[in-house]
Amino acid sequence: MTKQRKFLLSEAEMPEAWYNITASMANKPLPPLNPQTQEPIGPEALAPLFPMGLIQQEVTTEKWITIPDEVRHLNSLWRPTPLYRAYGLEKALDTPAKIYYKYEGVSPSGSHKPNTAIAQAYYNKQEGVKRITTETGAGQWGSALSFACQHFGIECEVYMVKISYNQKPYRKLMMNTWGASVIASPSDKTQAGQKVLAEHPDSPGSLGIAISEAVERAATDEHTKYSLGSVLNHVLMHQTIIGQEAAVQMEKAGDFPDVVVSPFGGGSNFAGIAFPFLRYNLEEGKNIRCIASEPASCPKLTKGVFRYDFGDTIGMTPLLPMYTLGHNFVPAPIHAGGLRYHGAGVVVSQLLKDKLIAARAHHQLECFEAGIQFAQAEGIIPAPEANHAIATVIAEAQRAKEEGTSKTILFNLCGHGNFDMAAYEDYLSGKLQEHQLTDQEIQEAIAQIDTPEIV
Ligand SMILES: *Cc1c(COP(=O)(O)O)cnc(C)c1O
Repeated sequence: MTKQRKFLLSEAEMPEAWYNITASMANKPLPPLNPQTQEPIGPEALAPLFPMGLIQQEVTTEKWITIPDEVRHLNSLWRPTPLYRAYGLEKALDTPAKIYYKYEGVSPSGSHKPNTAIAQAYYNKQEGVKRITTETGAGQWGSALSFACQHFGIECEVYMVKISYNQKPYRKLMMNTWGASVIASPSDKTQAGQKVLAEHPDSPGSLGIAISEAVERAATDEHTKYSLGSVLNHVLMHQTIIGQEAAVQMEKAGDFPDVVVSPFGGGSNFAGIAFPFLRYNLEEGKNIRCIASEPASCPKLTKGVFRYDFGDTIGMTPLLPMYTLGHNFVPAPIHAGGLRYHGAGVVVSQLLKDKLIAARAHHQLECFEAGIQFAQAEGIIPAPEANHAIATVIAEAQRAKEEGTSKTILFNLCGHGNFDMAAYEDYLSGKLQEHQLTDQEIQEAIAQIDTPEIV
């Protein structure tokens, strides 16, 4: 009998509901505030940007939200996704730890993002929306939403962070193939973009700036809505099918994780894999360690502050209570474009504040080293974002070896890196630079947040 390597589920075993972790949390997240009045905003304030179906999910107190049949059916194109035991990596590390990974790279666009893109396009379609605008960093979210919009016959307009637009021409072409239009951000198509370009004509762009552009477009056209690929409660919730599937698959493997690890940009793939396991901690007294892995050059969880801040750079969104480096923080142009965001989702931030989850930061070179070790041991070439989780996993596995203890580690391999070869080329040719962010730079960015501290 060979050792089982891959744990699969049938379509019938796909989760039937999304999990809303706020229903299980003792300390609920603080409300978003209106930036002018500093008063909590109601759901109606979001109506210009999002369809009601999604706004209801954003504020719901229900624990389980039934997934519409059409969404489940579309997801079944690539779901359930496989769970693997990383025998190759365990051997390479010579560790007593058992390592498992959930692989989300089997989706059409190559990451976990279509899990929410399909759901969001579905609710927009239900309410007759004609066009959706969005931003994209590395291009993963833009391609996922392009794919989803194409299916529902909705126009899709993507503001792509300029540095990624130049680094990743194939991501742009992928979006074009699914019928979307792609604009390098900052652009002169919006007032927000024009303002940034006037001050910084060579700006490499950032997710915060691209969000400002996409939001402005939606706010100024009645047939256009806006869609976000991370950060918001409903987005995090749509991803919880990852962890729910993984829990069943771990059971089939006859195992249960002691540690769950995931890369962290705004929190969606972390929430996706970790929240269903955190439920065991919150409701059944289990003690699974959930670790979010972020870049040392954009360390909002490990070096940011818990404050009310804007979700975008210009200040068009409501104020959100989150771990942030300040909305003016423009991360260095590292290759993990999907992690270059100044803030963290509200729910994840509250969990970190309450020490119910942990965070680690890794430098870029360590991450690529980890990614290449993984590719050589397991075959799959990870997205640069996923390399951050792998760096944490390797550190955990090495610690297990030093301590001579076994433990079971599960991580989210949230996407493949097949469109990120330019990043690997830079690493392999020795051109990839370590980027050092100084504490002074962090303090300067944080000092620009002008909202009061949360006590
Ligand atoms: C978007 C993205 C991320 C970061 O976003 P989260 O919302 O934190 O998941 C990480 N990895 C990949 C592959 C992505 O596409």
